[in-house]
Amino acid sequence: MLGTTFLLLLVQGLLRYPQPAARGLDEATRERMEQRAEYLSQEMARLVQELERQSLEQSAGAWGALLLWPCWGTLAVLVLLLALWFGAKQVVSHEEKWEEVGAPGNGKDKHSGAQDDEAHKIESNPGGLSVQRIQLPVVDLEKGCSLIGDLMAKLRDVFEQGLSHSFYPVPQEAIGVGSAFEGWSPRAEDPVYQVLVALSPPAGHAFHLELDTAGMPQRNFWVRVELLCTCPRGQPGEDMLCFLHQPEQELRRKQEPSLLHTLCTGSYLDVQKTAQWFCGFVRVAWLPLPQSRHWRLTLLPSSRSCRFQLSKGQESFKAEMIFGVRRGDSDIFAGSLATEAGTPSTAWPETCAVAEAKFFGHISRQAPQDSCHCKCLQLLSHSLPGVGLSSYTLKTVLMHLLSTVPPTRWRRRDFPRRMMDILKLLRCSLETKALQHFVIGNERLPEEIRLPSDLRLAEPPNLLQHLASDPDAQAKALQDYFGLVLGLRQLLLSGH
Ligand SMILES: [Zn+2]
Repeated sequence: MLGTTFLLLLVQGLLRYPQPAARGLDEATRERMEQRAEYLSQEMARLVQELERQSLEQSAGAWGALLLWPCWGTLAVLVLLLALWFGAKQVVSHEEKWEEVGAPGNGKDKHSGAQDDEAHKIESNPGGLSVQRIQLPVVDLEKGCSLIGDLMAKLRDVFEQGLSHSFYPVPQEAIGVGSAFEGWSPRAEDPVYQVLVALSPPAGHAFHLELDTAGMPQRNFWVRVELLCTCPRGQPGEDMLCFLHQPEQELRRKQEPSLLHTLCTGSYLDVQKTAQWFCGFVRVAWLPLPQSRHWRLTLLPSSRSCRFQLSKGQESFKAEMIFGVRRGDSDIFAGSLATEAGTPSTAWPETCAVAEAKFFGHISRQAPQDSCHCKCLQLLSHSLPGVGLSSYTLKTVLMHLLSTVPPTRWRRRDFPRRMMDILKLLRCSLETKALQHFVIGNERLPEEIRLPSDLRLAEPPNLLQHLASDPDAQAKALQDYFGLVLGLRQLLLSGH
């Protein structure tokens, strides 16, 4: 029965995802494609039989084992079958693309060779297909999120108790961002728990965000620090001297220096000085914390964030605190992390990380308990072969699909179809060199995600713009796409 279900699903999958007709192909290519399709259909039939045999053996052995048959594994094998078929079509499509863009080397032989090697492995070792082995390393992201969240709350308490009379930027409640807090991780064995710590100006100071570079999607802000008048206006109990109107000598004697004299360069808040200061604060604040009795804290090098590792025996968690200044009351920040080398230390690149994390939270609240959206992203990002495709591209593709395919259609049983949706949209994006930024200019964002008006009304930037101007980059990205499909198949075959 299980095998019949596979076949039905498989046939549905194939019918549902017919590839574009091979228009304009020469006779030899068409023939090769047909031969490969024929070979793969035979292969699929054999694999399904193999699965059926395995399931019968299992059911004969123990009903309990059958009940515990890993659904993910079952579905993953189905994806494998679809990917086999899908990958074969890609051979032709990508060979054409390679020829079209004039990529160096003979991509045709290389790809066909890899394809044949993979096929040969399946052929020569049918017993190697074991659904039990198809699994990713299990990572308990919730434990890490909870541990890092607790630590951030404690650090904030220490700051409030110990530094309330100083004039350093005031950390607000840390916001979990990035893959681990969204429920997936491109490096399953070694996730990095990222939090964004919003910084507010201390008493007597104001932050003003000034746009430095207007290019989309990457824009830099400067955080100009202004001193405000705090002269008492008849209110008793004011214990702060006004930085603007008190004599400098008195200020120096009785009060901590202003932020302009500590973490700024000129009138602007300096990312590197801020990060360095915060790392120093964490080092000092750590010792009295209850966590320090069980965990060892190691600060890791980073110039624009505070990276550290908590370890205890064999267990360890890596975390990164990035800093940000909120744009108005929106979910967009001028953040400390920079993607481009040589970013000045006073530049704070705009980040949508909080808006994206909120979107994943919104989806998780609506999705059924067995929703597979994070599993899809986990599996795909784990299989990324090179640097031509980023996990952020994959995540953007997924977010677009999550906002168009209803949450009820992301159940565990929908896994193969959703995986095919992602691959299909990814391929289409790479071929057309167009993938819209998910947050900027997106009118379909849930209401709870707040954007500044300039971003709400902006034309969505194209994340693949660089492919349009650089044929080599497109060839690399397509090559990576092909590698992704092969890698995914390999992962599903070997289980690791
Ligand atoms: Zn004053």
